[in-house]
Amino acid sequence: MALATLTQPTERTYAPISWTFFILMHLACLGAFFVGVSPVALAMAAALYLIRMFAITAFYHRYFSHRTFKTSRLAQFLFAFLGATSAQQGPLWWAEKHRHHHKYSDLPEDLHSPIQSGFWMSHIGWVPLQKNVGTDYRKIPDLAKFPELVWLDKNHILPPVLLGFTLWLLGTALEQFWPALGSNGMQMLVWGFFVSTVVLYHGTFTINSLCHVWGSRRYATKDDSRNNFWLALITLGEGWHNNHHYYATSVRQGFFWWEIDVSYYLLRLLGVLGIVWDFKQVPAHLKSKQILTKHQLN
Ligand SMILES: [Zn+2]
Ligand SMILES: [Zn+2]
Repeated sequence: MALATLTQPTERTYAPISWTFFILMHLACLGAFFVGVSPVALAMAAALYLIRMFAITAFYHRYFSHRTFKTSRLAQFLFAFLGATSAQQGPLWWAEKHRHHHKYSDLPEDLHSPIQSGFWMSHIGWVPLQKNVGTDYRKIPDLAKFPELVWLDKNHILPPVLLGFTLWLLGTALEQFWPALGSNGMQMLVWGFFVSTVVLYHGTFTINSLCHVWGSRRYATKDDSRNNFWLALITLGEGWHNNHHYYATSVRQGFFWWEIDVSYYLLRLLGVLGIVWDFKQVPAHLKSKQILTKHQLN
């Protein structure tokens, strides 16, 4: 009985493979001290941060989690694949966990509330918990009906591995054919994949941790979500998190022209190209409805 109690998984039991993976990803960044750096490797790291941040915010979040616009089945898969190269698990896992966050935001059931479990648990500690491993496809039937998305979700390790290998191959080719650039396979792998992906982790995760404690509250939502200009900059628009919790089905999270929302601008561009359409917007009368007065802000 005592032994059974001891071995019983608890709310805070970690999945060994998941946390080992996170630690190895971070340790791999230390390889930067051994492989050196070059402008082309830094540019690749920055470009892959931005491109994949867009795939996470515009598609993992605004499309798969909230269905704020429409796209074709092919584009849906391609952007899901691009998002999966971020090693933040599959699009269906992400959407399922995120919908849960909106349902129980800052309540005890919330998977990543800084109010309930503190900064580190809400930032990164919640991901490798045993209870959060795997996707409950019954909770996301609108997405689980696509077999190619379920396949990608179950094989979410393939896209990041493919990206890492491609970067290594590219660096090796550059070393041979364009040595003046000063890059090589391992350097491109470390900067383009490991450093870029780990910075992308922490950029994305600030929305769960910091954006529920740091910033201003325009709308009196039931949770503690905040609007934060700096976090909106590094996450291409996700920092308008109080707006988002107020009206989550809006494709645009920066509700006003001064609220910079790069993911929305890029989606508009994809809209012009006919790749995405049917944007859902926050109705004008709701936008100004619950603005808090200065002494209510807190
Ligand atoms: Zn939130
Ligand atoms: Zn959301």
